[in-house]
Amino acid sequence: MASDVRRVTKESNVADMWIAGEHTGSDGDHLTVTDPATGDAIDEVPEAGTSGVDRAVQAASEAFTSWRSTDATERADLLRALADLLEEHRSDLVSSLVAEQGKPTLEANGEFAHFLAGLRYYAEAATKVRGSYQDLPSQFGRSYGLIVRRPFGVVGAIIPWNFPLTLLANKLGPALAAGNTVVAKPAETTPLTTLRVAELSAEAGLPAGVFNVVTGGPDTGAALVAHPDVRRIAFTGQTTTGQKIMETAGPALKHVSLELGGSDPTIVLPDADLGSAIRMIQIGRYWNCGQACLAPKRAFVHTGVYDDFVDQFVGRVGRYEPGPGTEKPEKPKLPIGPLHTPGQRDLLVAQLSDAVDRGAKVLVGGEVIDGPGNFFRPAVVVDVPADARLATEEVFGPVLPVWRVDDLDEAITRANDTTYGLGSSIWTTDASAIDRAMRELEAGVTWVNQLHYGYDEMPFGGTKMSGLGKEHGLEALEEYVETKSVVVGGLG
Ligand code: NAD
Repeated sequence: MASDVRRVTKESNVADMWIAGEHTGSDGDHLTVTDPATGDAIDEVPEAGTSGVDRAVQAASEAFTSWRSTDATERADLLRALADLLEEHRSDLVSSLVAEQGKPTLEANGEFAHFLAGLRYYAEAATKVRGSYQDLPSQFGRSYGLIVRRPFGVVGAIIPWNFPLTLLANKLGPALAAGNTVVAKPAETTPLTTLRVAELSAEAGLPAGVFNVVTGGPDTGAALVAHPDVRRIAFTGQTTTGQKIMETAGPALKHVSLELGGSDPTIVLPDADLGSAIRMIQIGRYWNCGQACLAPKRAFVHTGVYDDFVDQFVGRVGRYEPGPGTEKPEKPKLPIGPLHTPGQRDLLVAQLSDAVDRGAKVLVGGEVIDGPGNFFRPAVVVDVPADARLATEEVFGPVLPVWRVDDLDEAITRANDTTYGLGSSIWTTDASAIDRAMRELEAGVTWVNQLHYGYDEMPFGGTKMSGLGKEHGLEALEEYVETKSVVVGGLG
């Protein structure tokens, strides 16, 4: 490792993988992890490749036999113990998240709290996996049937860089609660906090091999998907990556959940509480520097309130002060971190330029900030043509296009004019408009007068090209077990 590389956490050698309850290095290639606020290297991790994945899957397979037979109350206790221990290490883990992901400390603390809540939710749920009973016709002698729920075995959990911890909890929590073992692969740019969590899981008492972490990029992810002993894949990331995963998982008949991209519409009607709509759309769009799957990414505002909305919204967005996640600007300035990579920033700039070339107007922001780090001024854009990239592609950064609409019919038609179907929202007090939004918006979630936020208690997942299956809620727990029918005869 280069001598100028500093380790994010001091207590441990986090830069190894975590396999079978041990730090596991590799003689192969290594990947550099950089701080998005400075561009400096902060650590290196191994590219696990096929051999690293194989070791981890073998460890998880060996651990499965006893983990599936471990009493559900004990699994619950261990998940709770893990959450409690992680809480004791909050400060280090949050700093590590800020350093590798780039988000402001306030937001990293928010993600950390959500992460623990997710683990604790599934600790509670571990004892709630229930089967059922069935009386059977008696033509072969008195019999009854049981429908039991069994874990799959090894789950491969593949995670992106935007919310490394919460998106881990969404998979690790239900998988372990239901009796599966896990091989997680964090994004190549955000592996460090996950590795430290895995290391602490041993201290919390999780048996070796129950939770393993391999590091690396797309090839390592692909090797995990292809491994014959991985029975279920839980993936969050881009739609195109989800399609590749389906190509491998399909012929092998693996169970998959795919949480993919989104381009959530938000509709604002004239009877809405405008102040609340503006505040929540602003938080939703610019949180995590606009790099959230669930976020209002296209605003359709009724002509009756359009001018007020745009005026006030632009004023608020102008208050953002891009800076390192470790710094907090003086009020009334608002903190916003860097984009995660130079590539993310280049893509956003290309999408914005395309809209401007086609006649869109940028009302605030939109500039790349010179100097180290991937900083960009949050923007609001109007007059965006319907075929511009800002309208047709997922925009993963702090830019909101706002369109004027004449009525709810137009708003719903334009909201649904996308290949995505992740989230959606409407701001109104009109019961019939709410009813239509619930029924007609093509999305996995519709929020009414609420922030786009993924609750642990509510199932969440996309329709159309935004994915398959659910995360969160007891519904997600169901996706980590398969049913098996047992017929009991010989009863006379
Ligand atoms: P990505 O698809 O590039 O990468 C996600 C993960 O998949 C990474 O760990 C990566 O190494 C791995 N990977 C890449 N290619 C692979 C392959 N061929 N086989 C297996 N694994 C592979 O996504 P990203 O750019 O890191 O994340 C941003 C995307 O994630 C956005 O589209 C965003 O909307 C989406 N996202 C969706 C949700 C949701 O819940 N629906 C939540 C967060 C992010």
